[in-house]
Amino acid sequence: MTAPRTVNTTCPYCGVGCGVLASVEDESARLIAVSGDPDHPANLGRLCSKGSALHETVGLQGRLLHPEIDGQRSTWDAALDRVASTFQQTIAEHGPGSVAFYVSGQLLTEDYYVANKLMKGFLGSANIDTNSRLCMASSVAGHKRAFGSDTVPGCYEDLELAELVVLTGSNTAWCHPVLYQRIRAAKEKNPRMKVVVIDPRRTATCEIADLHLALQPGTDTLLFNGLLAYLARYGHIDFSYIESHTQGFGAAIEAARQEGDKLPDVARTCGLTADDLSRFYSLFASTGKTVTVYSQGVNQSSAGTDKVNSIINCHLATGRIGTPGAGPFSVTGQPNAMGGREVGGLANQLAAHMDFDSDSIERVAEFWSAPAMAREPGLKAVDLFQAVGEGKIKALWIMATNPAVSLPDADRVRAAIAGCEFVVVSDCIADAETVRLAHVRLPAATWGEKDGTVTNSDRTISRQRAFLPLPGDCRPDWWIISEVGRRMGYAEAFSYGNAREIFAEHAALSGLDNHAAGRLRGFDISAYESLDDSSYESLAPAPWPARPGFGVVPRMFADGIFHTADQRARLVPIITRQPVNRPDTAYPLVLNTGRIRDQWHTMTRTGLSPRLSAHLPEPFLEIRAEDAATSGLEQGELAEVESRWGRMLARVRISDDQQKGSVFVPMHWSDQNSLSARMGALVNPVTDPQSGQPESKHTPVRVRPWSPAWHGFILSRRLLDIPGIDWRVRAEGVDFHRYELAGGTTHADWAAWARELLCEPGETAAEWVDFQDVRAGRYRGARIIQGRLESCLFVAPDIRLPERSWLAGLFQREHLSDAERASLLAGSPGSGVENPGPVICVCHGVGRNTLLKAIATQQLDSVAAVGQCTQAGTNCGSCIPEIQKLLGSPA
Ligand code: SF4
Repeated sequence: MTAPRTVNTTCPYCGVGCGVLASVEDESARLIAVSGDPDHPANLGRLCSKGSALHETVGLQGRLLHPEIDGQRSTWDAALDRVASTFQQTIAEHGPGSVAFYVSGQLLTEDYYVANKLMKGFLGSANIDTNSRLCMASSVAGHKRAFGSDTVPGCYEDLELAELVVLTGSNTAWCHPVLYQRIRAAKEKNPRMKVVVIDPRRTATCEIADLHLALQPGTDTLLFNGLLAYLARYGHIDFSYIESHTQGFGAAIEAARQEGDKLPDVARTCGLTADDLSRFYSLFASTGKTVTVYSQGVNQSSAGTDKVNSIINCHLATGRIGTPGAGPFSVTGQPNAMGGREVGGLANQLAAHMDFDSDSIERVAEFWSAPAMAREPGLKAVDLFQAVGEGKIKALWIMATNPAVSLPDADRVRAAIAGCEFVVVSDCIADAETVRLAHVRLPAATWGEKDGTVTNSDRTISRQRAFLPLPGDCRPDWWIISEVGRRMGYAEAFSYGNAREIFAEHAALSGLDNHAAGRLRGFDISAYESLDDSSYESLAPAPWPARPGFGVVPRMFADGIFHTADQRARLVPIITRQPVNRPDTAYPLVLNTGRIRDQWHTMTRTGLSPRLSAHLPEPFLEIRAEDAATSGLEQGELAEVESRWGRMLARVRISDDQQKGSVFVPMHWSDQNSLSARMGALVNPVTDPQSGQPESKHTPVRVRPWSPAWHGFILSRRLLDIPGIDWRVRAEGVDFHRYELAGGTTHADWAAWARELLCEPGETAAEWVDFQDVRAGRYRGARIIQGRLESCLFVAPDIRLPERSWLAGLFQREHLSDAERASLLAGSPGSGVENPGPVICVCHGVGRNTLLKAIATQQLDSVAAVGQCTQAGTNCGSCIPEIQKLLGSPA
């Protein structure tokens, strides 16, 4: 037997950018094993639950494997010719402003570079924007206002060197789990280290917090203006730094004092106690080594850029930037959001961090020998899809993203795409909402099949390497885009033979005119411009800049020199602005949206993994008990959530983690795996005026019970088609698919309906065990073939249905015992049979009931003790915050 081949690559999920060792055990069966790369500086061997389950997601289920035109399989030649000719014709008839690309932080830097080059240099428009607009555009705008460039100053090591880590608008424990684990481990080592979490919700991240400030939504800038005023009042401003390295302090402090000088008033407006706020301010004031981490909770706001600058102001005013353990730190959501920013994947940027100034336009045009250089910024994401809806964009190419689900006001976006004259989608998935709307579908390579680079949140450029063959007709995105460029007549400009050639060109552009005095751009990787194939293949992870003759620069701005014309950073005066759409009597609650621990984006990849589906298998509405009572909602029932833009259904989770007046829904569910649970349909399409980033954390909504006639679920070894259902959510289990169901109309004969749904055509071998009480509206049915449970359906008039975790175990039996058959009929495991409860630790499959029992009976009092006893939390550690919470909860 040959030893597995191991390849160093990078995780395709969040912006932490963890290094992964992928061992190929059977290439043709696509059987791989994954582990954390101990040599990668981002994770030093760790992986979170999502990274640890990557091996479960490389199958070909649901893949788009061949080009299609108008729903029919086609050749690559025919599909590419159609795309090239239609874009050319559209531009000829309606001008370059009539075409657009919408791309993704899932693309590799090389893909992004070629897409940006084709659109901005050869099609003559800057209408290329990215789903990263939804994620971190406010950080980009804030960085540029403050530093003159889109530069994250620090590195991950700063999170361990800091003595105060402020996590604001960031559920780090769930959204950047490996960073959270690094902070947690550092805190355990250094008792002086403090963690402050600023978030309207009490999230899993709060389990390591010394202080949680559950501020009122929309009061972030006031809180940081108050901090700046406090720092000035109590003598914590570093005037030497201010005078030597910044501009704008006077105006910024005046604005901060205007609204933030009276701490009790700030506390009251922010919904905090004066004591808590004073404690935070005093901690910040007295701790030189402070890092402020911020993420989507700050960025996804109509005042996102101001929020970013209000944070950076406090760091500049205290000189806490560019030094070990200190600095503002934006963490990105996507694996290559930073790479996209570097090549100009945003409509308002050019390439290599250049703007649309005349020098840069000429420089890039000359470098590319571009015949039709775009001369002004294009449309940002929300405006772009509005232009699609208005018929102004007539040819649209969407790459590796699902805007019909993820953009705000998603129903309108879906209608806009459906009404567009010509839509191309290149994707690895065959059946996503957006893919379904395309006239031309192009099968793209995905993680494990494609080669290139990504840049993570601390500017580290890493290689993502292919280790599996391209399936079907799939091709890398850069190849697809280049082929279209060639067919448009630009053969020379798009003659790339591999990803290395593109990376080298990108590197060369980054260094062009970038060393003369006064023209220094921060993004410079020209050290890589002459890289040959073997050096590219072995490229080790390293942060940018990478300039010839200079060593590694882990932190930017250590010398106090910034990328503005006068090389000084800017403090920006901030006046707090309220969210554009505020709750009112018709829509009294604020909807907050976000990620959950084990899922990624619209679940096209993570949704394939049984272990990742086990933790939170259904879309939910988290709501505080008082608001639930006012709205008539009950724990575990279904609720309708409605805004002025759309509606969705979700399972009610009553939780004190929510503050009164706010509710939360996760962002992941789409029509592919659910009905009526696309949260994007609700979100208001308001954007930040500076960054164009949508306000995904603040939409006024109302909620009410949604009371179906029946509830039920199916577990089935084979995929099912279940038509005519009002509520249907699919999740993957080990050896079965799980469907949660609810309907407005009952069936007269549930047993007949069960057979209709579950049986295969012409089936005779199945044995049925079922119980029906038509009057009570209850049904329990199991279909057994050769002693093995094949599928089961449970129906009840209310939500009192058997635990799925118990039934899941029966799918592992090769032969059901008589007792197990009896328990299926009774709908209960029977005495003496353990019911593990909902899964908390997905790596070891440990349920909540098991954990609570172990904690109570073994008198366990620490995460380590729980791990020793149950194994929970001993692999990736993503469940540790929940175990900590259970340790504090009654058994
Ligand atoms: Fe992937 Fe998890 Fe690392 Fe993010 S933290 S890059 S999801 S392994």
